[in-house]
Amino acid sequence: METKQFKAESKRILDMMIHSIYTHHEIFLRELISNASDAIDKIYYKALTDDSLTFDKDQYYIKVVADKDNRTLKIIDTGVGMTREELENNLGTIAKSGSLAFKNENELKDGYDIIGQFGVGFYSAFMVADVVTVISKALGSEEAYKWESKGAEGYTITPCEKDSVGTEVILKIKENTEDEKYDEYLEEYHLKEIIKKYSDFIRYPIKMDVTTS
Ligand code: ADP
Ligand code: MG
Repeated sequence: METKQFKAESKRILDMMIHSIYTHHEIFLRELISNASDAIDKIYYKALTDDSLTFDKDQYYIKVVADKDNRTLKIIDTGVGMTREELENNLGTIAKSGSLAFKNENELKDGYDIIGQFGVGFYSAFMVADVVTVISKALGSEEAYKWESKGAEGYTITPCEKDSVGTEVILKIKENTEDEKYDEYLEEYHLKEIIKKYSDFIRYPIKMDVTTS
């Protein structure tokens, strides 16, 4: 008897992720901040074994930037970044975790260190954003790439400009509906509250910048 592999409707799975898996939409920020922290941790681990790399704690941070006029929320990190292939593999395949692979390759023990494992947290961004853009430059690479998606329809990857190594995740925050005030995700006090609630344990500094004209 032949055992067959399950197939999956990726569009439907993404839809399900966005609409039914999480009860609290605000956790998207926890997911993106934990990814940023993981990306910095990867440089930290690489620096432990690679003498050409130094880890100067002051250079590594996460920054949350809200722009109310443009309705954008950015989560910026100075972590390892992603190559074009990594953007494709890690953000183009649901349930593929580059962080889990990194843990296994480096034989890292479970613990408070690298958080990622399931390869789904990133997509929670679509609970609060119509468009998600990821601009990334990988450690050791001269090129930067932009990954962009409106959700279930798919994504594009194009070359772009970025000076420093790391990643910027840019969320175009949804318009308010009767059920949810998405505006709150652009308010400093609310962002601080969410960060305090879910990301207090992150060991890199989380800076914040909120602008309105
Ligand atoms: P998980 O964190 O559980 O692995 P995610 O869906 O949150 O799953 O992210 C998928 C993968 O995308 C991560 O494992 C990582 O390889 C990559 N990734 C996501 N965000 C970043 C980032 N800010 N910097 C570098 N890589 C990232
Ligand atoms: Mg994650």
